[in-house]
Amino acid sequence: MAPPRKKLKAVRQYSVDYIAFGFVPSPADRTRPMCLICSNVFSNEGMKPSRMRDHLEKMHSDKKDKPAEYFKKLRDDREKTTPSISSPRPFRLLLPR
Ligand SMILES: [Zn+2]
Repeated sequence: MAPPRKKLKAVRQYSVDYIAFGFVPSPADRTRPMCLICSNVFSNEGMKPSRMRDHLEKMHSDKKDKPAEYFKKLRDDREKTTPSISSPRPFRLLLPR
């Protein structure tokens, strides 16, 4: 008889669905959600769809009816302008040639 499976400690992970609320994984810590609109990074505790929807409705009520596509575009635009922390560009050293 197999021993009862231990309950795994659930670590909330960013779900791609959260883009629908305007959230993406924080570049500094990908287990934490970041609001695309105001760049607020939530604690891991904030990684609840209800919290994110709440934030969107309260803080960005003008964006709450936007489709996920809108936020995806926002994310893409942001990635173009903000260098990712996880893959920093190498420093260009001023070497004499
Ligand atoms: Zn926000």
